[in-house]
Amino acid sequence: MDLVRVELPDGACREVPQGSSPLEVARGIGEGLARQSVAARLNGQLVDLSTPIEQDSRLEIITLSSSDGLEIYRHSAAHLMAHAVKSLFGHEVQVTIGPAIENGFYYDFYSDTHAFSPEEFERIEAKMAELAAADLPIMREEMSRDSAIALFREMGESYKVQLIEDLPNETVSLYRQGDFVDLCRGPHLPRTGLLKAFKLTSVAGAYWRGDEKNAMLQRIYATAFTDKKELKAYLARLEEAKKRDHRKLGRELDLFSFSEEAGAGLVIWHPKGAMLRTLLEDFERREHLRRGYDIVVGPQILRTDLWKTSGHYENYRENMYFTEVEGFSYGIKPMNCLAHMLIYKSKMRSYRDLPLRFFELGTVHRHEKSGVLHGLLRVRGFTQDDAHILCAPEQLDREIKGVLRFVQDVMGIFGFEYEMEISTRPEKSIGSDEDWQRATNALMNALNDSGLPYEINEGDGAFYGPKIDIKLKDALDRRWQCATIQCDFTLPERFDLTYIGSDGEKHRPVMVHRVILGAIERFIGVLIEHFAGNFPLWISPVQAVVLNVTDNQAAYAEEVYQALRDAGVRVQKDFRNEKLGFKIREAQMEKIPYMLVIGDKEMTEGTVAVRHRTGKTLDGMTSAEFVRFVQDECRQYH
Ligand SMILES: [Zn+2]
Ligand SMILES: [Zn+2]
Repeated sequence: MDLVRVELPDGACREVPQGSSPLEVARGIGEGLARQSVAARLNGQLVDLSTPIEQDSRLEIITLSSSDGLEIYRHSAAHLMAHAVKSLFGHEVQVTIGPAIENGFYYDFYSDTHAFSPEEFERIEAKMAELAAADLPIMREEMSRDSAIALFREMGESYKVQLIEDLPNETVSLYRQGDFVDLCRGPHLPRTGLLKAFKLTSVAGAYWRGDEKNAMLQRIYATAFTDKKELKAYLARLEEAKKRDHRKLGRELDLFSFSEEAGAGLVIWHPKGAMLRTLLEDFERREHLRRGYDIVVGPQILRTDLWKTSGHYENYRENMYFTEVEGFSYGIKPMNCLAHMLIYKSKMRSYRDLPLRFFELGTVHRHEKSGVLHGLLRVRGFTQDDAHILCAPEQLDREIKGVLRFVQDVMGIFGFEYEMEISTRPEKSIGSDEDWQRATNALMNALNDSGLPYEINEGDGAFYGPKIDIKLKDALDRRWQCATIQCDFTLPERFDLTYIGSDGEKHRPVMVHRVILGAIERFIGVLIEHFAGNFPLWISPVQAVVLNVTDNQAAYAEEVYQALRDAGVRVQKDFRNEKLGFKIREAQMEKIPYMLVIGDKEMTEGTVAVRHRTGKTLDGMTSAEFVRFVQDECRQYH
């Protein structure tokens, strides 16, 4: 019998009979490994455990505990779901595709007679459990394209036929489990019995091949974990995320709305949302001024010729809105950089003027496809806390460090943990090696000095320069991209920015684009979900509500209300002739931090009884004392 050499990831080599399977190799290493294994990587390619090894090879056994393993597990669960659906609905439903996705998987079904509803999920799950318990072997088959087309045509699976027709391959692979067969590249788990914990989560419409001209399919989302405990923890997180959904809380707290009449992806800020936003913007202005930035304001529309100079017209036109005035074409700004370039160019600059840090709460509009719009997280009009730093090359190090410290301070204030990534030079890029080296070093040095770990995305930078992306982690352990720091070698070139150096010669400044919170809209969306609407006092649109027990105290309560408002506390009043308990419950629903209750006792003593939204009560205090109390709690942010 011929032997082949198999090299394992740890460098160890094994000789096995030609045609052995990865599962057999795993057994040779240990029964424990064999039990845990779900697939293998053979010479860099993911394959089934049963794939014969025909030549000397590199082999890695994929276990359930790896991310590849989990993906294969979830994709196998997608087949199981399709199998269950076909068992239950037969010819009423056609299968299309079903990939694994982050945290789970989905499968897209076509049916013109049946609409799936969440009420059926349990039934489908029960069928899945039954098919899993039957522990069916999952077997790969290969056949010619033509036979596969004939097979699926006979089964009435026209979407599968389309998929195969579009494949360039002469042979295609299918996976069979029991009476269910699916077109698939694989690999898959060896048996359905390995699938232990899964749950259907939602159903939504999706176009065949993502194209709105095609048929509408029904996408069933689901999740699967390798054990029940993990599934339960994930479902609890999902439930919590639903409760915290910023679109739901935005409505309940009356912060903002969207209106089809106004247009998709355009936020309408109601008084409380606009207040929250104003508070964040005021905070931003203070923090920028404190760090040596100048506030600037550019126009909302700029001549299209200028967008041609900047390269946006060439590279970004599809995402821009244009308008025409007196025969001239204008572009509505998708970015704030251009006016800042013009400010720089408005006079001769000397090295003594640098660095210049132009900050703008710049409102931009970008055309996003309606399908990707998502509450405040993905919109068409938004305001960035945008700044452009123009400095001499030797100042770059210090500037980047300053921005990174800025990000750290702000994340600390909101209590976010975060992760950082640096993206380096891509193949297609402009700028000299020296420029790239210097900018990349400046970014790396700043990250190293921060003492925080970071990841490097080789070749993932923008074509115009390297960048740092900062992803914050919210209360549900989700990652959100907010801050970014980007070096740019093109705009200073394109706009021919110069400064006179100490040598009396003209030099090119370096430019950094950076945002700290990113889009205010998106950041507020994240804040709402992170705090579940319980904003910290300093950004609460309403900080306190004055409640009277009976009409008897109305006059005094009005006095308290006026005194607090005069002192700058964001206060509202509820003097309705309702039971106190009812008014307290409403205030709690509004998530107002403090309820100031006034009964006869408080009126006589000239105080208010203070109750926190958590239900905790504080000692009674006078309105002047409450003002100081609020100021103290907010002081560190002013
Ligand atoms: Zn598959
Ligand atoms: Zn910019």
